[in-house]
Amino acid sequence: MKTIDDLEAELGGLRGRRVLVRSDLNVPLDSSGDAPRITDDGRVRASVPTLRRLLDAGARVVVVAHLGRPKGVPEAKYSLAPVHARLAELLAPASVAFCPETVGPQADEAVAALGDGELVLLENLRFAAGETSKDDAERGAFADQLAALADAYVSDGFGAVHRRHASVYDVATRLPHAAGGLVATEVEVLRRLTTSPERPYAVVLGGSKVSDKLGVIDNLLGSLLTSGDRLLVGGGMVFTFLAAAGHEVGRSLLETDQLDRVRGYIDAAAAKGVELVLPADVVAATEFSADAEHDVVAADAIPADRLGLDIGPAASAAFAQALADARTVFWNGPMGVFEMEPYSHGTRAVAQALVDGDAFSVVGGGDSAAAVRTLGFRDEQFGHISTGGGASLEFLEGRHLPGLDVLET
Ligand code: ADP
Ligand code: MG
Repeated sequence: MKTIDDLEAELGGLRGRRVLVRSDLNVPLDSSGDAPRITDDGRVRASVPTLRRLLDAGARVVVVAHLGRPKGVPEAKYSLAPVHARLAELLAPASVAFCPETVGPQADEAVAALGDGELVLLENLRFAAGETSKDDAERGAFADQLAALADAYVSDGFGAVHRRHASVYDVATRLPHAAGGLVATEVEVLRRLTTSPERPYAVVLGGSKVSDKLGVIDNLLGSLLTSGDRLLVGGGMVFTFLAAAGHEVGRSLLETDQLDRVRGYIDAAAAKGVELVLPADVVAATEFSADAEHDVVAADAIPADRLGLDIGPAASAAFAQALADARTVFWNGPMGVFEMEPYSHGTRAVAQALVDGDAFSVVGGGDSAAAVRTLGFRDEQFGHISTGGGASLEFLEGRHLPGLDVLET
């Protein structure tokens, strides 16, 4: 993978060059107030070093990114304008403009107006149907329009590299290109997690959708984890494991169509000597609400009318113990509904165990990253907080990521 240094050498310098940067600025927004508010600016902050590197070299930087999931047409609530405000603050005193169009005459004009060491952020890529189109020609036509805005391309939107999208994949085939600093760092971390990791290796999985994470479990039990390693499961996905082990899970999240597959994992872990750590207790509530009546119950005795919203205190202690002497930890998915205080304790306990231990710890997943930050932890307390949940999971599944493969060409 070429670096920005390589690209600089290839082009004979970056001063005055128009460089198209695909960043990942897909941040969570709270739109309940008068103006939308960014609730976790981690991805914006993570984008800054690459942009600053290019600005300092005198490049004319054109940033493209997506926000949310608009369906190929402009929608005001998905405008990148609030993100632009934060980006401008972080890059100050550099000149950081915003163009309310992604491609077209206004975008052409905004790029033409750039001076050396100045930046423009273009409006949400997904306001154009070509960005995510499954049709190669439609996507290619949009990539042509993006490529026409620049002399070179830098791929730095790690959170999107698993997508075969115009701004991630097709545009790299049309311009001299390089990986940005964020993509390079994320890939280095993932290689460390997948190529001779220090053991014991512990993987903590949680979050809401078991089916999203089954591919990872396949690869973990197939090749990454060996005897003495640990797989800890919490969050909403744990109830499919508890049900597969024969327990009643009440009204908790349950994916019944995955029960057989999960039973297979329980057997595979046992056969390999991988310790599967499931919670011994859970916090069971009458409703999905912070105010609901809730109690700690044994994981094999969840009342039929309750739903499990967090792992319990005994489970938190056991999880912390299973992490204490680990040398490598990958964590994806909160242990409970951390957004509500009564169900945030399991997630806090796992984060604290990583901070207390001395494993190389990687936190992946948008909600997991937001969880550790909103619970008051700092990024520096972990080995790495990934900006890309889906991308890091697909990498750990052993899949090829189109946005990384294309950078090798
Ligand atoms: P990430 O973004 O880190 O990959 P996910 O998107 O898979 O994580 O899941 C995060 C969500 O899972 C959070 O919004 C959290 O509230 C929810 N969650 C965690 N535990 C439970 C549970 N027991 N029941 C329902 N939802 C849960
Ligand atoms: Mg999520």
